[in-house]
Amino acid sequence: MGTSLQTLRPQRRQPTTPEDTLLCGATATRFREETEDALHRATRQLQQANSPTTGPSPTGLAPRIEAVDLEAPLGSSAEVFSELEELYLRDAVYFHHPKYAAHLNCPVLIPSVAAEAFVSTLNTSMDTFDQSAGATLIEQRLVQWSAGLIGFAVSRADGIFTSGGTQSNVQAMLIARNRAVARLDGPLPHRLSQLRIYTSADAHFSIANAAMLLGLGQDAVRSIPTDARHRMDSVSLCEQIERDVAAGLVPMAISATAGTTDFGAIDPLSDLSALARRFGAWLHVDAAYGCGLLVSPRHRQRLAGIEQADSVTLDFHKSFFQPIGSSALVLREGTDFDSIRHYADYLNPRAAAAQTPNQVDKSLQTTRRFDALKLWVGLRTIGASAIGTMFDRVIELAGEAQELIGLRAELRLEAPVQLSTVVFGFNHPTEPLPQHHANTLNDAIRQRLYERGQAMVAATTVQGRRLLKLTLLNPNTTVRDLEEILDLICQAGYELLAENFAKGRP
Ligand SMILES: *Cc1c(COP(=O)(O)O)cnc(C)c1O
Repeated sequence: MGTSLQTLRPQRRQPTTPEDTLLCGATATRFREETEDALHRATRQLQQANSPTTGPSPTGLAPRIEAVDLEAPLGSSAEVFSELEELYLRDAVYFHHPKYAAHLNCPVLIPSVAAEAFVSTLNTSMDTFDQSAGATLIEQRLVQWSAGLIGFAVSRADGIFTSGGTQSNVQAMLIARNRAVARLDGPLPHRLSQLRIYTSADAHFSIANAAMLLGLGQDAVRSIPTDARHRMDSVSLCEQIERDVAAGLVPMAISATAGTTDFGAIDPLSDLSALARRFGAWLHVDAAYGCGLLVSPRHRQRLAGIEQADSVTLDFHKSFFQPIGSSALVLREGTDFDSIRHYADYLNPRAAAAQTPNQVDKSLQTTRRFDALKLWVGLRTIGASAIGTMFDRVIELAGEAQELIGLRAELRLEAPVQLSTVVFGFNHPTEPLPQHHANTLNDAIRQRLYERGQAMVAATTVQGRRLLKLTLLNPNTTVRDLEEILDLICQAGYELLAENFAKGRP
C-alpha cells in the first residue's frame, strides 16, 4: 500500500530548512550520510598521512583561514568538509604516526573513538541524573574502578571525570584549600595568605595556575628542588615546611607528581605521604602521565604509596590511549567533595540530594560531556591489562631509544629514562659548541625536522640548556622508527653546523 501511495505522489524534493539540520528521528538518515561522509574523509586522511605533519607555519595557514567568509554559508556539509580538507585535515598533526614523538599525545583505541558516536549523538549531559540516567552510573562505576586500582577503599572513595589533568589538578587544590581554610581562624584574606603548596621544581604548571586561581598567588607555591633523577627531594621539602611553619605559615598541600612531563620522574610517594601526615597537609598525586602504571603488568609497583594520597589526577587521554578529553580526579574520602557542593533549586535541589546521584555535586562544570563512555568502551573491549601492556611497551621503547642514543657520539642523554620520555642534546662530538650556541642548534634541529615534516620531537630546557625530547606513547613505533628519528636529528644537526660555519658563525 505504502509504495502505491508514494508512486501516486509527485516526486518533489523536500525543501530543506535550517530545522532539517537538527538531529532527530526524522533526520536520522541525513545524519548518517553526513557522518559517514565525515568518517570517510577522516579515514582517508589517516591512510594518506605518511608523516606526522606537513610542517605548516602559523603565517602560512592564517590567510587560508582568514579568507573564509563566515557570513556566507556553503549550504551543505559536503562542501564544508571539502573546504576543511584544505583548511585543516591536510596539515593537521597526526599523533598516531610512528614518527610523532613530541608531546604527551597517544594514538587512540578504535572502540573508544567509535564511542564518540554515542557521546555526541545522544549528547547526554552529566550534570544531573535526570539528564543522564545510566551514564551517571557508568561514570560512577569507572570512578570506583579507578579508586580500586589506586588502592583506595572503594566504599569511601569518590571522583569525577574532568576535561583534563589541568582541571583535575585545579579541583584537587580547590578542595585542599577549602579544607585548610576551614581549619583556620580570622578573616578569609588573612587565612588565604598563610597557605603554602609544595611541589617539585619539575611539577606541571597547572599547580601554580591553581594557586593563582584560588587567590593564593603564585608565590604560595614552594618549588622544591629535585634529585639527580628529577624527583622531589624529601629532605629539602621537610626543611622548607619546617621553615614555613616556624614563620607562621600553613602547609596546605603537597602535590607529588607521578610521572613528570619531561623526565617521567615519580616523586617518593611514601616519604611525601609521611610528611603530609606529619604537617597536616593534603597529599595530591598528579598521575596525569604515570597513571598507565596502574594497569601495567610489569611496573605497577612504581606507584607504591599512591594509595596514601588524599587525591589523585589521572589522564586517560595520555597513558590509557583515550581520545581527548578523558581525565578523572579521584578522592580517597568522597565526603571531601562536600566543600564544593552547591544546590541549585532548578537543578539539584537539596531536598532530593540523598536519593539522587547528581554528578554536578562534585564537578566544577555544569553541562558536561559523557567522556567516561570512551574509557568504558575501550576497557570493555580489550581490558585493562591490554592497555597496561601497551604502556609497558612504550616504556621499553624509551629504554631502547636510550641505548641507541648511547651509541652516538653526537648525542648526550640528559638523565636515565624513567617512563617513556627521553631527554638528550645534540652537539659536535669532537669540537662541541659552547652552550648558548648549542641551545640555538638544538632548537633549530627540532624546527628543521618539523618543517620537513619527517618527524616531530619536543624540546625542553634543563638548567639553561635547550635539549631535545622524545615522548613515546605509541606502542606501534618500532626500534627502526627510533633509529630513523635519531638519524634525522643527527643529519639536521650536521647540516646546521655546516651551514652556520659556512656563514662564519659558530
Ligand atoms: C599533561 C599533564 C598535566 C595537564 O593535563 P592536561 O590533560 O593536559 O590538562 C598535568 N600534569 C602532568 C604531570 C602532565 O603531564
